[in-house]
Amino acid sequence: MNLTLFGTGYVGLVTGVCLAELGNDVLCIDTDAEKIATLQRAEVPIYEPGLQELIVGNVRAGRLAFSTDMARGVAHGDVQFIAVGTPSADDGSADLSHVFEVAGAIATHMTSFKVIVNKSTVPVGAGEAVHKAVATVLAQRWPGAQPAPGFAVVSNPEFLKEGSAINDFMRPDRIIVGLGESPEEQRAGDLMRALYRPFGHGHDRVICMDRRSAEFTKYAANAMLATRISFMNEMANLADRLRVDIEPVRVGIGADPRIGDSFLYPGVGYGGSCFPKDVTALQRMGDDVGLPLRLLAAVAQVNDGQKRQLVDRLVQRLGPDFSGQRFALWGLAFKPNTDDMREAPSRVLVRELLERGAVLQVFDPVAMQEARRCLQDDLHDRPDLLARIRYAQSPLDAARDADALLIVTEWQVFRSPDFDALRAVLRQPLVVDGRNLYEPRSMRALGFDYLTVGRNAVD
Ligand code: NAD
Repeated sequence: MNLTLFGTGYVGLVTGVCLAELGNDVLCIDTDAEKIATLQRAEVPIYEPGLQELIVGNVRAGRLAFSTDMARGVAHGDVQFIAVGTPSADDGSADLSHVFEVAGAIATHMTSFKVIVNKSTVPVGAGEAVHKAVATVLAQRWPGAQPAPGFAVVSNPEFLKEGSAINDFMRPDRIIVGLGESPEEQRAGDLMRALYRPFGHGHDRVICMDRRSAEFTKYAANAMLATRISFMNEMANLADRLRVDIEPVRVGIGADPRIGDSFLYPGVGYGGSCFPKDVTALQRMGDDVGLPLRLLAAVAQVNDGQKRQLVDRLVQRLGPDFSGQRFALWGLAFKPNTDDMREAPSRVLVRELLERGAVLQVFDPVAMQEARRCLQDDLHDRPDLLARIRYAQSPLDAARDADALLIVTEWQVFRSPDFDALRAVLRQPLVVDGRNLYEPRSMRALGFDYLTVGRNAVD
């Protein structure tokens, strides 16, 4: 099929590349000319394992191209995917301006039937609004008796995870397809099934439903995952107070198939470009219909507190004033295998530590450049704080002469460091682990003062 992707971010680029890999002819459009120029050189503007190889292969095979030309994009695809950002607006609702920009461009340039597929995460009712917006422009373009070209608006929210996006897209658990009521939209369901059939590996992964339900499914899924994380973080904090080790508790509850064992790891709170904004947007949806979502308010509140847990642990050990103290931070990206720093807990942590007077030596295996950009942005009004961040060359370089090491992101490279070398370079052998990477007993046997999230009761 001829497909157009609008938006070449984490979702749009991976979607476009994977659909090309399956043999479709894909044109990816973005308004960011620099991003498109990078992609045209077959370079990847984001870090996502496996993406570079797929881009190079598919561009060479002539199935994948990049452009900033919206009209060309509209002309190319029978299916037009919208995969642009839907960030939080000031009131917490999803900002749909990019979605409507693309919908407007499609309506302005289309001359034949188009299936418009919304992959961006959008609130319930956005598909209807896109349908109306496109119909309005088409009515202006075809005012006479001759009918305007037909179109369908489909909701197809994306569930891939950054860091394993290619595998998630190629082997999805489910593909949600939400259809409107018009005959064109019902027929578009068949087209979507055909497009996604190869990804099922012999199983039909497509779940068709009405469009509003599909839009809601995406938010409900993310809200559920965020809830599990905050639940587990609260249990871990309680475990520490009750002198219980959270690790066997995690294993014990995860063994129940009604609960399952994924997303049950306590840590420094969730971040990234989805959970925080989607939880807030769902809360706004509730407020708008007079149903404040109390559970989600608590989920967000627990998460905000969790981002400060490591600071609280340090304060307990070292007192509230960190002047003259030097700390190492391992991990800045909001999770491993990505360079995404959006809403990363490290950003809150860095500011808190600097405001208490600390000097920071930070290291991340891939997010250093992005971290530098984001921290400069966050602290643009505090050059005095920025001056106290040193970007280290390696994990050990970050730890050198530090009064404590804080582990923020669970990159593989941090899982088995040379502990003797680490202890030798630290000024004090204090490790505050926000990801519970090591066995507390072994760490103590190695001479570390080791603090965790929920495992501090282990003697
Ligand atoms: P992103 O910010 O990485 O990328 C969005 C891209 O859209 C940018 O490159 C931007 O330049 C481009 N863009 C903006 N306006 C445009 C326009 N008018 N025409 C063409 N391109 C335009 O965003 P993302 O992380 O890929 O997320 C996209 C959507 O998918 C969001 O709604 C997000 O909530 C959802 N989502 C994201 C993830 C994830 O892991 N990142 C997972 C599932 C769903």
